[in-house]
Amino acid sequence: MRVLVLSDIHSNFPALQAVLQDAGAVDQTWCLGDLVGYGPDPNMVIEQVRELPHITCILGNHDAAILRQMEFQAFNSEARRSLTWTENVLTADNMAYLRSLPTQALVDAKVTLVHGSPRDPTWEYVLNTLSARLNFAHFGTPYCFLGHSHIQSMFSLDPSTDRVSMMMTHVGETTPLPLRTIANPGSVGQPRDRDPRAAYAIFDDEANTWEARRVEYDIGEVQQRIREAGLPIKHAVRLAEGW
Ligand code: ZN
Repeated sequence: MRVLVLSDIHSNFPALQAVLQDAGAVDQTWCLGDLVGYGPDPNMVIEQVRELPHITCILGNHDAAILRQMEFQAFNSEARRSLTWTENVLTADNMAYLRSLPTQALVDAKVTLVHGSPRDPTWEYVLNTLSARLNFAHFGTPYCFLGHSHIQSMFSLDPSTDRVSMMMTHVGETTPLPLRTIANPGSVGQPRDRDPRAAYAIFDDEANTWEARRVEYDIGEVQQRIREAGLPIKHAVRLAEGW
């Protein structure tokens, strides 16, 4: 089975479209949360995700904030402005879809899906070997796929030495996943690793391989829509440089 793994779309519809086109035919799609926030097209993004066949989608922290399950105060002022704007434009149907999302899921009998971390699904960031180390005790499956940091990354636990190492994922390269691995496909709509291209991954559940991928999209179009919507200009500027 070929699985599209994506996360942190953040209301960036052109980036989502580019990823879906670039990924080609897949058997399932696993979306790791943060459909909304920052960007100008929350309704189009949710409607597109809802329509995907065989979709499993997790609730992110920005999605949870829209549902008032998380305080706006937990976000910086620009993110808050975007949340307030999103809350006002989101349709009742799309709000209901966000409300239906779980904070974690077990898929394919071997993968745990969360937004942030298995220990704290909606909020904690797994950014380094220490936070990864602490989180291996919090899921029982061979693999855990997560988003939230907006950085394509992978952490593996070697059971013989009990050590966790960070593995580099090279774009376009297919990597076999060691038996216990935490993997992050990066962010579709707001990459933060200095590569502005939309990030995602392809998981092959028979070979147990992971391919980190990037695809270009029309950043200028999204920047213009951010300006037209009156959203914070920072959210437009950062897209061009991927931070
Ligand atoms: Zn995010």
